[in-house]
Amino acid sequence: MSTLLESYAAGRWFRPADDGEPLLDAATGEEVARISSRGLDVAAMVRHARATGGPALRSLTFHERAALLKALAKYLLEHKDELYALSLRTGATTRDTAVDVDGGIGTLFSYASKGVRELPNDTVVLDGGLERLGKGGTFVGQHLYASRPGVAVQINAFNFPVWGMLEKLAPAFLAGLPSIVKPASQTAYLTERAVRLIVASGILPEGTLQLVAGSAGGLLDELTVQDSVAFTGSAHTAGILRRHPNVLDGGVVLGVEADSLNCSVLGPDVRPGDPEFDLFVKGVVTEMTVKAGQKCTAIRRVLVPSSLAGEVVEALAARLAKVSVGDPRNPDVRMGALAGLGQREEVRKAVEALRASSDVVVGDPAGAPLLDGDATRGAFMTPLVLRARPGATEPHDVEPFGPVSTVLPYDGLDEAVALAARGRGSLVASVVTHDPEVARAVVLGLAPWHGRVLVLDRDDAKESTGHGSPLPVLVHGGPGRAGGGEELGGIRGVLHHMQRTAVQASPDLLTAVTGRWTTGAARADTGVHPFRKSLAELRIGDTIASEPRTVSLADIEHFAEFTGDTFYAHTDAAAAARNPLFGGIVAHGYLVVSLAAGLFVDPAPGPVLANFGVDALRFLTPVKAGDAIAVTLTVKQITPRSGADYGEVRWDAVVSNQEGQPVATYDVLTLVAKTWEEDTR
Ligand code: NAP
Repeated sequence: MSTLLESYAAGRWFRPADDGEPLLDAATGEEVARISSRGLDVAAMVRHARATGGPALRSLTFHERAALLKALAKYLLEHKDELYALSLRTGATTRDTAVDVDGGIGTLFSYASKGVRELPNDTVVLDGGLERLGKGGTFVGQHLYASRPGVAVQINAFNFPVWGMLEKLAPAFLAGLPSIVKPASQTAYLTERAVRLIVASGILPEGTLQLVAGSAGGLLDELTVQDSVAFTGSAHTAGILRRHPNVLDGGVVLGVEADSLNCSVLGPDVRPGDPEFDLFVKGVVTEMTVKAGQKCTAIRRVLVPSSLAGEVVEALAARLAKVSVGDPRNPDVRMGALAGLGQREEVRKAVEALRASSDVVVGDPAGAPLLDGDATRGAFMTPLVLRARPGATEPHDVEPFGPVSTVLPYDGLDEAVALAARGRGSLVASVVTHDPEVARAVVLGLAPWHGRVLVLDRDDAKESTGHGSPLPVLVHGGPGRAGGGEELGGIRGVLHHMQRTAVQASPDLLTAVTGRWTTGAARADTGVHPFRKSLAELRIGDTIASEPRTVSLADIEHFAEFTGDTFYAHTDAAAAARNPLFGGIVAHGYLVVSLAAGLFVDPAPGPVLANFGVDALRFLTPVKAGDAIAVTLTVKQITPRSGADYGEVRWDAVVSNQEGQPVATYDVLTLVAKTWEEDTR
């Protein structure tokens, strides 16, 4: 008998109490594994995640969590051959598997990198700026994101057994939430293999990843207000989950990625022979055939100007004729099998429903000869293009989750947008055009109905990742029928898992809470210039307040001449006098910032290694000849970089005039050595 899949639960591999149901090879029909979750204690899994995984994860900073994701990505990359070999059994070609396996690993890398670059080396994320709530500045407000002490349950569809797991795991992990992954049974053997690799690597803290192989059983019954469910699958199952009492009344957050009738629109500006015409046809064929069309983002509706519908169908037929279908073990096969005979039956039913108002114009619904493979035991299917008759409704309602697309002719951009909207919300749309006006009209028309819109033309085609590829840095999800969920999107995907809270406090206590110096909080002048302190010695709030310096007309003239910035406000007294904001010659803002650097800097070699930028620079009050400016520089945030012997220090800089009015405020960004020995100075 083949392998009985096991769940990874509460720190050990759990073998089910029965022999389970068979899972069949998509191409040969042979048994690959058996699956069951009978006897699995899902309540213990939830307790383990809460008691062991969550606390372990939340004791790490974002940077430490990101480092683990990077180590995991490297590890899986080294072991991906195992996954590739097993993936063939899902019906996937090597090209399809790259989308699943390498796409998943790439998502881990992307989150690892974003976690370090865009999140603090801390456990709290600030959202937006400081809100001054009282006139005296002693009562301020700050939004922040904190980790939830819950568990993230991730239920996935059968089509991406590796990517589906990793794209949900990575943002939740960064957010400090342990995951319980429940893959679709059909292809769960591949997810199980990936989880075995992950567990064997020992990289992730125990309890941060658990696996349910088989039915979810009563998992949702165990969830409560700090927990979440991220679901990818059919609208039908989504409906069942939405009605679960813990979702309806128990405060469990449910995110849904469901059916989607994505479309691609050929712009009315495009003519046969234009590069965009070929790009459009190629895009449709790619989306129909990668993963045998079993992609939530695949193009189901092909919207073309009526006058070109015939030519588009001919071009699709010509391209599809080159797509060889068969057993993915044969390297000449371009399109493998659907995940199983059950799935193929579903697609065939969907095609029958579509035929009520559309005609098959490319491909034979009865099937065509295979390049390789057993046509009776394998879930093979010939790609089919249908053409909708006027007034067709089914193409906007029925999702054939396979290599099937329907051409819908349109007249005018308004009709194209209206047809796209009849999908009632989709994950992604594309418009293929080289006309700026068409691009704007269609994108703005499609945007409310889609989570992502690709504008494809001859200029971006070469680098474009295509219509159907969700990218870790961009939002994946769509409104309405597509589920209304949102995943990925870079750090947005992490923040979805965290709680945003508005904190009101005094500046000192807010500084203590956030770990970031807040305007109005205590400053400490320790008598040692902060540029002489290494990261180990610097403290939040360390300050240097400079002596004043008078800005002369000669300074302004010199700066104008030296830099070539002879803008009239700095050089022409009469013209500057007529300027309603200045009323006379003023110093260049950059002169003020440069002079400020001269005032705060400690020049000798020391732990400050470099100035790598400024943030949020604002010039608030004009500086005139004769004004005396001084600067106060305060350590605002300290971010050690793991793997480097330096870190980032963000300094709050306030330049004031002799009246005490702020003339410029900004953050100075520097790199500072973690340690600095006296004898190396
Ligand atoms: P499905 O039948 O809805 O199954 C999805 C997942 O839900 C599977 O893991 C399934 O487990 C689980 N499930 C089923 N009933 C459940 C219940 N009562 N409680 C908890 N979990 C339950 O969908 P599918 O056939 O696998 O996937 C195809 C559909 O997914 C298509 O409609 C496609 O559009 C959609 N999809 C959407 C996206 C997206 O990102 N928007 C991506 C991929 C697919 P079992 O397999 O063990 O039943």
